[in-house]
Amino acid sequence: MNTFLHCSCGYATSDADDHTDHYLAAFPAEGDIGTDGRVHAEAARDTPDGTPQYRCLCGYAADDLAELDGHLLLAFGGDDHIGRDGVRHVAVNALAAASGVA
Ligand SMILES: [Zn+2]
Ligand SMILES: [Zn+2]
Repeated sequence: MNTFLHCSCGYATSDADDHTDHYLAAFPAEGDIGTDGRVHAEAARDTPDGTPQYRCLCGYAADDLAELDGHLLLAFGGDDHIGRDGVRHVAVNALAAASGVA
């Protein structure tokens, strides 16, 4: 898969893990506590049957890493998505994917 993940700040990567790291660096959260007061972090992907899962510690389950990215961004970014560097960070692909899921 060669899908590039884009951030509104200009950052782009084809690696979903790097993309998540980018947001977590932009929106540092004390103890992984999001703006809603709950703990958000990527849970272990390993399952007993070996099927990868993409879950957040808050209980949110995503279909893929891009969707999980969007969830973490919303949890930590707040309403304006302005990171500590003063730049707006919005996951272009992830938010589109997240909004397409009912
Ligand atoms: Zn969460
Ligand atoms: Zn960014």
